[in-house]
Amino acid sequence: MDSHTLMFGVIGDPIRHSKSPVMLNRAFRESGINGAYAAFHVTPDQLQQAIAGVRGLGFRGLNVTIPHKIEVMAFLDEISDGAKAAGAVNTIVNDNGRLIGYNTDGIGYVRSLKEEAEPNLNGKTIVVLGAGGAARGILWALAQESPAAILVANRTESKASELAASFSPDYRISAIPWSNLQEACSTADVVINTTSVGMSPNVADLPLDPSWLKPGSVASDLIYNPLKTAFLQQAEQLGCRIHGGLGMFIYQGAYAFEYWTGKPAPVSAMREVVLASFSTI
Ligand code: NAP
Repeated sequence: MDSHTLMFGVIGDPIRHSKSPVMLNRAFRESGINGAYAAFHVTPDQLQQAIAGVRGLGFRGLNVTIPHKIEVMAFLDEISDGAKAAGAVNTIVNDNGRLIGYNTDGIGYVRSLKEEAEPNLNGKTIVVLGAGGAARGILWALAQESPAAILVANRTESKASELAASFSPDYRISAIPWSNLQEACSTADVVINTTSVGMSPNVADLPLDPSWLKPGSVASDLIYNPLKTAFLQQAEQLGCRIHGGLGMFIYQGAYAFEYWTGKPAPVSAMREVVLASFSTI
C-alpha cells in the first residue's frame, strides 16, 4: 500500500465471517492493481455515516451485505436498473464522487449457472424454490436470459404470488402452489433451491424430493455451506447435472471487481483462494 492505493471494502452486521476481503485482495494482486479491501462492521444506526465516509475518504468501491442492502439505497446518487428490479444494492461504485448502486448477486448467480452448468437458458423452463431476498435478486437476472417460463414456489405461498406479481408479465414469472411443485419439477430444465433448507448445520434437510427432477436436468442450490448440499448429492445420484452456490459468491465479486476496475476478474484465482480459506476453518 502507498499513497496511490485505491480503497475498497465490505460493510455488514455481522461481517467477521466474510470471505470477500480474501477474495478481492487476491483479485487485485493477481491483476496488478494497487488496491486494498477490508471488512467494516457497520451497525444500522451507523449506515448513513459509513456511506458519508466512502464519499469523504474517496473509496473507489464498496460491497454491502446483510442487513444493509435495502436501506443503503436511500444514501446513493443513482441505482442501476438491475438493482432497482432486485430491490437491493450489494455493490457501490464511486464515480468521481457520484455513488452508483448495483446488484451483482443475481447476475453473478446467472453467470455462474451458465459457465458451470447450463450455457443456454433461452427457452428453458426454470423452477425457483423460495421467495426471500436471494430469490428476488436472481429472478430478474434469469428473466434477462429469455427462458420459456420461471415458476416460483414457496412454503408461504402468498410470498411467491407477491414476488411474481411484482415483475412485468413480459418476464414470464409466475407463482405455483407448493402442491404443484412435483409436477413442475418433473418437466423443468433447471430447478433452483433459494431457500436456506440444507444449510449447515442442518445438512441432511432437503428442500424438495430430488427424485421429482427429470434426469439430465440441472439441480442448482444457492447454499455454499456445505459446498454440495444433500439436495445436490441426491440429485446427482439420480442423473441430474448439479450446480452449487459457491459460484454465485465468486461471480458477484467478479462483477463488482469489473465495475470498479474495468478489467476482467481473475475468477479462477478468486475461487482458489476462497476454497483454500474454507479448508483452513
Ligand atoms: P430469506 O430472505 O430469509 O428467505 C428464506 C427462504 O427460505 C424463504 O423463501 C423461506 O420460506 C424459505 N424457507 C426457510 N426455511 C424453510 C423451510 N423449513 N421449509 C421451506 N422453506 C423454507 O433468505 P435469503 O437471503 O433469500 O437466503 C436464502 C439462502 O440463499 C440462504 O441459504 C443463503 O445462504 C443463500 N444465499 C447464497 C448466496 C451465494 O452467494 N451463494 C447469496 C445469498 C443467499 P418462507 O417465506 O415460507 O419463510
